[in-house]
Amino acid sequence: MKLFTIFGDPVSHSKSPLMHNSVFTNLGYNACYTRTHLKDGSKIKEVFFELALSGANVTVPYKEDAYKACDEVRGFAKKVGVVNTLVNENGKLIGYNTDADGFMFSIKEFEDIKKVLVLGAGGTARALSMKFLEVGFDVTVLNRSKPRLVFFQDIGCATFDWESFAPSSYDLVVNTTSAGLKDDALPAPTKIIKNLLQNTRYTADAIYGKLTPFLQLAKNKNIPFKDGADMLLGQGVLANELFTCNELDKKPIEIQMRKIFSY
Ligand code: NDP
Repeated sequence: MKLFTIFGDPVSHSKSPLMHNSVFTNLGYNACYTRTHLKDGSKIKEVFFELALSGANVTVPYKEDAYKACDEVRGFAKKVGVVNTLVNENGKLIGYNTDADGFMFSIKEFEDIKKVLVLGAGGTARALSMKFLEVGFDVTVLNRSKPRLVFFQDIGCATFDWESFAPSSYDLVVNTTSAGLKDDALPAPTKIIKNLLQNTRYTADAIYGKLTPFLQLAKNKNIPFKDGADMLLGQGVLANELFTCNELDKKPIEIQMRKIFSY
């Protein structure tokens, strides 16, 4: 039996074991997925091989440690410097990042996206903006404060803080801020959000486990939306494909993983 885990601190809240075990059990793949509460990120490689793992996911705060621990980093992970999926390939630790592609997977039904507004300028915004530019989207970033915007200017995004924001129309507005996670805050002042919702075809949010005030407003206006559960699901589907060496197809993986999401 192959063994997989998720490394994190904290890690007890993670839905990854349920997602992956749902696939393994229901699709008859001989594997088991656990949680590993890791207190020291520099030990990730040592613990990985001690546990004789075939693969692992990595969550907060160890995605950069995972990047450093790898014998080889592939694809988008190389560009962003963070790894969320580890695979044991003949005794070598291979690193991938499925977060941004997971988001792309989650918006696959959204049609003709060309112009995107990203709300927020943290780690998630960085990964998503870089991926959006990579696939040819026109990317604007709007953040509460200025300092974090420099990175986005440098990679080719239009950037604004709340005061300088010049509204436009977008195909997709994505909330990557933590506004609405533990409170009822909107990711920008109400006037800006209302204007945006009149001028976008689709919306999405990185937060999962609740319908954020931002998505609630979008829902009230009948704007199609995807919440963070879809992003989480998307990264999980892609990680599971890597874990099972593409023996399982995306669609059945998605169907089995989707079963564990409900609110
Ligand atoms: P960071 O801490 O790196 O960035 C947070 C961003 O949110 C900053 O731009 C900050 O602005 C902004 N912000 C915080 N509070 C507010 C507020 N009240 N109003 C407006 N802006 C605010 O966070 P991450 O990028 O790591 O995570 C962001 C969110 O994405 C979290 O809620 C996290 O749970 C979620 N997430 C979901 C994933 C999934 O799979 N669904 C994966 C990863 C993250 P400023 O610069 O001004 O401080």
